[in-house]
Amino acid sequence: MHKISDGILMMRTNERVCSTVYVLEHEGKRLIIDSGDGKLAFNFTPEICILTHGHYDHAKGVKPEWKNVFLHPADFSKKPYITVPPNAKKLDFATLSFGPFQLEMIHTPGHTDGSICILEKKSGLLFSGDTKFAQGDYGRTDLEGSEEEMQKSLARIDKLGWKLLCPAHGYLEQREDGKLI
Ligand SMILES: [Zn+2]
Repeated sequence: MHKISDGILMMRTNERVCSTVYVLEHEGKRLIIDSGDGKLAFNFTPEICILTHGHYDHAKGVKPEWKNVFLHPADFSKKPYITVPPNAKKLDFATLSFGPFQLEMIHTPGHTDGSICILEKKSGLLFSGDTKFAQGDYGRTDLEGSEEEMQKSLARIDKLGWKLLCPAHGYLEQREDGKLI
C-alpha cells in the first residue's frame, strides 16, 4: 500500500486492467473505493466499500462477507462487463462521514449509467473512477452511456473544489501544476 495523504492509501497491481483501490483508514477501520478485479489480496475486511461503477475490474474483488458494499442504482443492470456483487446495496446517500473524512458522491454518467466520482472534502482528493483520468483523458463511452453525458459529467467535476485527481487507472495528477504521481 502506498500513502497518498493522511489516512489515505492506495493498492494496485502492475496490471493496468485492475482498478486501483483507495483505502481510507480511521482508528483501525477502513473504507475502500473500488475493489479491483479479484487479484488484489486484502488482509483486512473493510467496514464500507463504495464502487465507482459496476465494471468487473472494479467490482469483482468484493468478498461475500463484506457487509456494506454500495453501487449506484443505475449500474444494477445486465450490461456488458458489469458485475454486480450479490451483496451490493444500492447507493442511497449523497454524503458520508467516515472518521475525519467527508465524502460527497457525485453521479457522473457517461462511462456507465451509474458511474460516480467521490470527493473527499478536507483533503481535496477526487476519486474519479473511470470517468476522469490524468492528462485530460477520460473513460470510454462506447460500451454504454454516451459522449454527451460524459462531457456534462466532466464539466460538473471541473466545478468542484478538488486538488488531486485519483483515478481508478493510471497516474494521479495535481490540479494546479499537472504533476503526475
Ligand atoms: Zn470501467
